[in-house]
Amino acid sequence: MKASLKLLERETGLLSRLRRALVRAPTPFNYPGDHAMHRWCTALLMGLMSLAATGTTLADSVTAPPSAGELLRELVEINSTHAHGSTEAAKALAAHFLAAGFAAQDVTFLAPADHPSKGNLVVRLRGRGRGRPILYIGHLDVVEARREDWNYDPFKLTEHDGWLYGRGVIDMKGQDVAMAVALMRLKREGFEPARDLIVAFTADEEAGGDANGVSWLLATHRDLIDAQIVINPDGGEAFR
Ligand SMILES: [Zn+2]
Repeated sequence: MKASLKLLERETGLLSRLRRALVRAPTPFNYPGDHAMHRWCTALLMGLMSLAATGTTLADSVTAPPSAGELLRELVEINSTHAHGSTEAAKALAAHFLAAGFAAQDVTFLAPADHPSKGNLVVRLRGRGRGRPILYIGHLDVVEARREDWNYDPFKLTEHDGWLYGRGVIDMKGQDVAMAVALMRLKREGFEPARDLIVAFTADEEAGGDANGVSWLLATHRDLIDAQIVINPDGGEAFR
């Protein structure tokens, strides 16, 4: 239990830094101000993370999940702009889920045959079957970033003066990491939800994309992501 709470503290510390980063970090987008929706998404994310802290049984047979900070660093340092695609990031995440004890059948990497670099990852935490699943979605791609436009290398995670800098920290690798680490911890701690929880990490959400992961999954693999409700933490300024 101590270890769990310690991890949670570390991760919520990261979330608090992300929240502060949101207020100050430059972004090329202006989000419409549906703050109630943002708060709702935040509450759900934090709730998922809190649930993870209630388990006391740690499986010894699987690797401890990375901390949110470690995973965010890894994802930021994988360039997933339109030109590079999201396959490398999706496969890196898949390796973490498998190491955390998810069965191979519940960690599905998929890419369109004509866009192999635009990979998606669908992960399922199996529940007790009391209702259709809840689906979380998060895109893995980021907007292009030129070194000369940034104070720091956009493809390195830099912490300075309590702030995190790096492409995708707030849109939306930070949210991807919150979902991934929470799901891995739920698995590790033996939590069995009433219904399946699915997280789809998707390709090509940003402008210029030609293989949008959500559209492609709906059209070709609906069974993998079929759910009662969908929660998208990319709803805007989720951590205000
Ligand atoms: Zn986004």
